[in-house]
Amino acid sequence: MKILKFGGSSVATPARIQSVIEITKPYLGSDVAIVFSAFGGVTDQLIQISTLALEGNLEYKQKLEQLQKRHLDAVRELIGVQKQSGILAQVKIKINELEDVLHGVYLVKERTARTLDYIMSFGERLSAYIIAEVMKDQGIAAEYLDARTVIRTDNQYGYAKVDFETTNKQIIDHFKHHQDVQIITGFIATSESGETTTLGRSGSDYTAAIFAGALHASDLEIWTDVDGMMTADPRLVKKAFTVPQMSYEEAMELSHFGAKVIFPATMQPAMINHIPIWIKNTFNPGFVGTVIHAESSNGKLIKGISSMNNVSLLNVQGSGLLGVVGVSMRLFATLAREKVSVILISQASSEHSICIAIESQYARVAKTAIEKEFVNEIRNEEIDEVQVEGELSIVAVVGDGMKHSPGTSGRMFAALGKNGINVAAIAQGSSERNISAVVKQADVAKALNALHEAFFLSDRKVLNLFLVGTGLIGTALINMIEEQFAKLASENLLEVNVVAVANSKKMLFDENGLSLKKSINDMKEKGEAMNMYSFMAKMFSLNLPNSIFVDCTSSQEVTDFYEAILTANISIVTPNKKANSGSHEKYRLLRSTAFKRGAKFFYETNVGAGLPVINTLNDLLLSGDKVISIEGVLSGTLNYIFSTFTEGKKFSEVVKEAKAKGYTEPDPRDDLSGLDVARKILILSREAGLSLELADIHIQNLVPADCQGDMSGDQFFSALQKHDAEFEKLRAQAAAKKEKLRYKAVLCDGKVKVELGSVTEQHPFYSLSGSDNIILLTTERYQERPMVIRGPGAGAAVTAAGVFADIIRIGHYTK
Ligand code: ADP
Ligand code: ASP
Ligand code: MG
Repeated sequence: MKILKFGGSSVATPARIQSVIEITKPYLGSDVAIVFSAFGGVTDQLIQISTLALEGNLEYKQKLEQLQKRHLDAVRELIGVQKQSGILAQVKIKINELEDVLHGVYLVKERTARTLDYIMSFGERLSAYIIAEVMKDQGIAAEYLDARTVIRTDNQYGYAKVDFETTNKQIIDHFKHHQDVQIITGFIATSESGETTTLGRSGSDYTAAIFAGALHASDLEIWTDVDGMMTADPRLVKKAFTVPQMSYEEAMELSHFGAKVIFPATMQPAMINHIPIWIKNTFNPGFVGTVIHAESSNGKLIKGISSMNNVSLLNVQGSGLLGVVGVSMRLFATLAREKVSVILISQASSEHSICIAIESQYARVAKTAIEKEFVNEIRNEEIDEVQVEGELSIVAVVGDGMKHSPGTSGRMFAALGKNGINVAAIAQGSSERNISAVVKQADVAKALNALHEAFFLSDRKVLNLFLVGTGLIGTALINMIEEQFAKLASENLLEVNVVAVANSKKMLFDENGLSLKKSINDMKEKGEAMNMYSFMAKMFSLNLPNSIFVDCTSSQEVTDFYEAILTANISIVTPNKKANSGSHEKYRLLRSTAFKRGAKFFYETNVGAGLPVINTLNDLLLSGDKVISIEGVLSGTLNYIFSTFTEGKKFSEVVKEAKAKGYTEPDPRDDLSGLDVARKILILSREAGLSLELADIHIQNLVPADCQGDMSGDQFFSALQKHDAEFEKLRAQAAAKKEKLRYKAVLCDGKVKVELGSVTEQHPFYSLSGSDNIILLTTERYQERPMVIRGPGAGAAVTAAGVFADIIRIGHYTK
């Protein structure tokens, strides 16, 4: 004998019902019985309709009408015309019965748990009845069985307890006298006094297990809408995958902590009778799914991660708790009396406080009851008032394998910590089969994904990027990510997901990753209006693990948000110099915020584009070296200008040419002013430990006084022309000494200056050509010959490559 059970999601539409019938066909030749849930969503609708009636809202009638229509339509669609009328009449009779009860609720404004169970029973009674008729119409020897005739329970409405002795007897007896395939209502039963009861929400799984147990079935198959029991809820964790097998205990623990795919009590009858439970997908019937049986398997540390929302923590604390025997007993007795079930307990070994997690709906009742129980202790200030913290969730990692393997909790809390998820309470079951943590409900998806990554994809990492700025660098970066995607995934085990792109006008988000190269166009075409506040709000509310904010703008405004971003535990990578070259106060604050939050703030491309300047400097300092001086040519533009400014050329022509080639800022004065170079050397000096401000730097502005101020490009060049002779004089003077002009940045003796100077043939700057940069680091270790870092120091491609490298570094860190 096999018992099959199809859930609401498998019978949500007539088309689904037909495919379920196809799935059952191969089983029909041998012994089989089939349990059905209500059509998808119907139980919720029944509750909703009765709530409307209870509130005196006549809208309940329309909703009931819709519910009736849904069932009648299913009959019309699935059953031949000749047979329809009798069945339609039966459906209407049932709905009339339901209508009478609802009318009663409406009149007396009361809906007891008993009435609610009765109301909910119509879902399964209608679905199993209709499906049985459809099967009969298709020539299958099927028979409708209202499980209330065989399953006997106590009268705890809403979650009735099964009387197995009577139930098993009645089931066996029933099957003795019924040869046709039984089409059974899930979820419902009858109390001793003959009232309708239910087994708890999602209880149809349990119904199937009860039949399997009574009939000593060889297998129990739970057919649902996913590929079996997965490593986590696939709705919340996109990368979840099927667990091929697990033990009854593991399945029980996972479902107890929220894995809705199977009802926790289902495992009991199956376990006692050694019946394997198969979880299979009606949308993918060929797939084996999961088998739940006695053994655990294959040395996997954990099998799954689950979560449960709407949890509150009650914190009972005070000196009165210390060493006083019986306090916990009274506490739990009080909760039991109020029928509040405790999901998790954690007590500090100081015995100073007890922390209890319960469903939020009971928080108020529980607090009142506990404070009443301990009224004297509270009055004597031995126990404080009960503190309640709501809007929490429990995340649990479950697996038989964690027993005797140290390090599970370490890995769990490291993963949560790295993602800035605060843990309010922790508990480990004494079975060592689960560790659960209480976190903010807003963090639950992030927590699940972070844990999933840590335990199941441990050497695989998804980085979620939020990119602002789609100019040359931003665009080059996206292209690079696309080109490197496959290689990164296979060699570095990193997946780069671009979740958002924005420019100054538009922004576009997709949690699952935008299509890389197309993303910028998509953003321009269908993005929403951009402003940093909404961008941040969206980024925060997505709350994705391993989030990185990439600022490829040169905007001051964007950097004003860095502190908030780091505070939200989101790392930042940027070539934008504005943040680090603003006030020293801000520079310091960003570092300490990043440090406190465990977020990363990387900006290697602030100086020398992709050249490894900042990292090299930091590595030297970290290993105990000390900076004596730093000297550099830090502007690719100015280096291009001065290395092209040779005999016979006019300075203004050279600048014009550089602009035409795209080497300068749109306004070349932004380069010639020296400000950009000053910002770079300021950042380097701060990295070296100096608390300097931009104003402390002596800057030689190469823009002559009469070329400053408001003027067009042409006006500027004709004004600059008038100074060609002065620049030529400087060049000739240098050339006479066999020297060359270079715009240098120098840090020495705690002082910083940027200025035009000349260098001798022996100087490393002499031969610097094109738009290259060079940095000489003179340190205690590199005193005789400074360390030289030299190479292309400008351009979108090398800068994007540097940004990309910073992103990858974060990826390796979070592993
Ligand atoms: P049915 O209607 O078949 O009873 P349910 O909605 O009760 O289906 O249960 C199936 C759902 O359980 C899935 O769609 C999935 O979102 C959820 N679920 C939660 N945790 C898990 C898990 N670990 N594995 C598979 N599904 C899970
Ligand atoms: N129909 C019931 C519910 O929605 C039982 C079930 O689907 O298992 O809770
Ligand atoms: Mg279910």
